[in-house]
Amino acid sequence: MPGTNLTRVEAEARAAVITTDTYQVELDLTTSEDTFRSTSTVRFSATPGEATFIDLIAPTVHSIVLNGIELDPASAFVDSRIELTGLAADNVLTVTADCEYMNTGEGLHRFVDPEDGEVYLYSQFEVADTRRVYAVFEQPDLKASFQFTVTAPAHWHVVSNNPGTHAPVADATVTIAGKDHNVARWEFTPTTRIPCYVTAVVAGPYHRVEGTVQSRKGTLSADVYCRKALAQYLDADVVLGDTQKGFDFYESTFQMDYPFEKYDQLFVPEFNAGAMENAGCVTFLEDYVFRSKTAQARVERRTVTILHELAHMWFGDLVTMKWWNDLWLNESFAEFVSTLAAAETKYDNAWVTFNSLEKSWAYRQDQLPSTHPIMANIRDLEDVEVNFDGITYAKGASVLRQMVAWVGQDKFFEGVAEYMRKYHHANATLSDLLVELEKASGRDLAAWSDVWLQKAGVTTLRPVIEVDTHDDIAAFTIKQEVPSEWPTQRPHRLGIGGYDVKVDRHGELVLERVMFVEIDIDGPSTSVPQLIGVHRPALILVNDNDLAYAKVRMDEDSLATAVEHLSGFQDPLPRSMVLASAWDMTRDGEMAARQFIDLVLKNIGAEDQSTIVMMLLRQLETTLALFVTPDAAVEATHATGDALWHLAIEAQTGSDNQLQFVKAFASLASTEAQLDIIQGLLDGKLHLEELEIDSDLAWDLLTSLVAGGRSAEIAIELQLTKDATASGERRAANARAAIGTAEAKRTAWDLLVNADKDLPNALQSAATSGFGRVHDTALLAPYVDEYFGSVRRIYNEKTNEMAANLIEGLYPSQLAGRDEDLQTKADAWLMENADAHDALKRLIIEGRDGVRRALEAQAIDA
Ligand SMILES: [Zn+2]
Repeated sequence: MPGTNLTRVEAEARAAVITTDTYQVELDLTTSEDTFRSTSTVRFSATPGEATFIDLIAPTVHSIVLNGIELDPASAFVDSRIELTGLAADNVLTVTADCEYMNTGEGLHRFVDPEDGEVYLYSQFEVADTRRVYAVFEQPDLKASFQFTVTAPAHWHVVSNNPGTHAPVADATVTIAGKDHNVARWEFTPTTRIPCYVTAVVAGPYHRVEGTVQSRKGTLSADVYCRKALAQYLDADVVLGDTQKGFDFYESTFQMDYPFEKYDQLFVPEFNAGAMENAGCVTFLEDYVFRSKTAQARVERRTVTILHELAHMWFGDLVTMKWWNDLWLNESFAEFVSTLAAAETKYDNAWVTFNSLEKSWAYRQDQLPSTHPIMANIRDLEDVEVNFDGITYAKGASVLRQMVAWVGQDKFFEGVAEYMRKYHHANATLSDLLVELEKASGRDLAAWSDVWLQKAGVTTLRPVIEVDTHDDIAAFTIKQEVPSEWPTQRPHRLGIGGYDVKVDRHGELVLERVMFVEIDIDGPSTSVPQLIGVHRPALILVNDNDLAYAKVRMDEDSLATAVEHLSGFQDPLPRSMVLASAWDMTRDGEMAARQFIDLVLKNIGAEDQSTIVMMLLRQLETTLALFVTPDAAVEATHATGDALWHLAIEAQTGSDNQLQFVKAFASLASTEAQLDIIQGLLDGKLHLEELEIDSDLAWDLLTSLVAGGRSAEIAIELQLTKDATASGERRAANARAAIGTAEAKRTAWDLLVNADKDLPNALQSAATSGFGRVHDTALLAPYVDEYFGSVRRIYNEKTNEMAANLIEGLYPSQLAGRDEDLQTKADAWLMENADAHDALKRLIIEGRDGVRRALEAQAIDA
């Protein structure tokens, strides 16, 4: 990939030589449409006489002045680094360059709104893209104070980490979309010491809603921004309400004031992730401004995301990891504490969502051959780029939850508060945190951290139950099975619940909890004497209340009860756990795919948790595409489609379930009768009461039609005239790539893989998912060889985000069981490309493992 890699060894060597003090960064955003002028003045101290280098990715470097001496860029600037030799004790370096606007969501991203030609910019620097905007010592432990100055069109808003003021620049103009604009200059106050990856500049004619939050420090400015075109949909009051809850919760839990001067939140176009924790200037994916009716699961997810980013202000921005191997500590902590904050301030069922969403992600990732300990070995930047994964976020958060159960929540946060008091504005490592947690809790965490943080893999807990002639429990043992690659037994603190089928006062059959114990287990086999003599309940659930991180199996009788009475659970958490267990069994080839489909279809209609519904519908699609034996897949897809339409009709009108069922039906619809229904809904000839066909649902329906061969390019163009927006462009890119003809697939493939000019990140990802959407997998067969023939080039030529998304998104998994050479081709690629970077090989190994799993599940389902 372009841009020099940086190894941990190099970063350590550099931090041993220099200490950074301040940066003054001056950006002129009025110079051209392709580049902007960047002047970076860095003050730093060094061991006299030593040499080092500073990072910069720029097409042109105009001048480099070190301590008053001009260096020649032609010789000093090589491969994204500027060599600095003969350092003094105190140094001043000024670098002036033209840097490139990006359309990949890395560096300074430039977006042109197709509606009005206006330009919107935002920066995104994590992991190492600050150097695309200014010369910088790009590593997390070289913190500094940053002071930004920005020249931009006067009608824009320019936002950075700190507050700023602006004044017009006399006699200067700039032309945008054929119109001349005056120019202004913004000066921001210097930041406190922060790592460069959380510095930020966001600029453009954004729509602003002025707001405030109450901090222990007093009233702080907290504005909310989005693109002008989305202004009518922005619910800033809800965003600020969530934010205020977070401020109250964190300031009291961490026993420390919010560390920055203001807290702006900006919804920006074409963002790669969910959000980014720039200090005092958080950016979000603009899809979180809901322009159409959306599943409640997404609304709840936005709250957790808002709370996640706010947690980073303390954990990450104020106290920063020393090197990227502790990235998990940032992300796991933010994920855990934001769920806790959501559960305690807004959503009672936030832990149910956590089980359904985060834990399933963690378990999936932890069973890939590429899994790794939570404390990953990060040798260089390319290693960390692929590590924003289910281990770093979700497993880490699950394990923190187990740790909190183990040391006690009060003690845990006492230790965290002390850690922040000690390391604020500085850097720290995991062991620094463990020291404080041990002090607060009096528990020895060395052994705990060894099995939980230094060892990968998930263990499986399986109850073995014996009953006597009276149906009382005679013996109860929990077996812990370990994966062969990661043979690590772990201690768990967990609950065991027992449920019986009862008739409630409305005459309905319900599952009532009749038994519960919380115990510690360890080793391959733990007997539970507390349960001996207890009358055997109809359903026994290990890890009831979900404190443990482990896969859980049910005994045969419990599974039978669960399948029969799943909707009888009054509490959604055990219901979600049973479903998770069934999903695990399906993925592990212990439950036939079509049996899982039956379980879901029988129970999803009564499910009232939006996230559970969303996850089950996704799992249905995966099961149909990958796990059902190929001979039965078409028929199973037709039947599931019919069942979903029936569920949509039966669902309460205007409900979340109705919307989710219609969308899922649209994505499976393939028979003539099903496509007739889709066509009817889109044309308005068929109505479901209170189901509004808004912009996004219209696109869902149209995409269904083009994938089913009913409509073509012309219908997409027509829809785009009705929704001539940036969001519409993305939906159109997705729909075009989904057209179910060989020609359309070829066009999409060439656009993604073979075009001279890259698509912007958001269009690339929309087209990638459209390409993979087929009813007839034969459409994808011609691309297997081309895929393996192109990935090396894609990885080398494109930026990190763009390459990883493409290589992952285009992996021909759907041909599992349909192309018998698929695994051989992956093996051959791995053999021939043994010298490729591990990060690239990892993507191929993960794709290959997805196919292996699919083949095993198909064998069980046959
Ligand atoms: Zn985060």
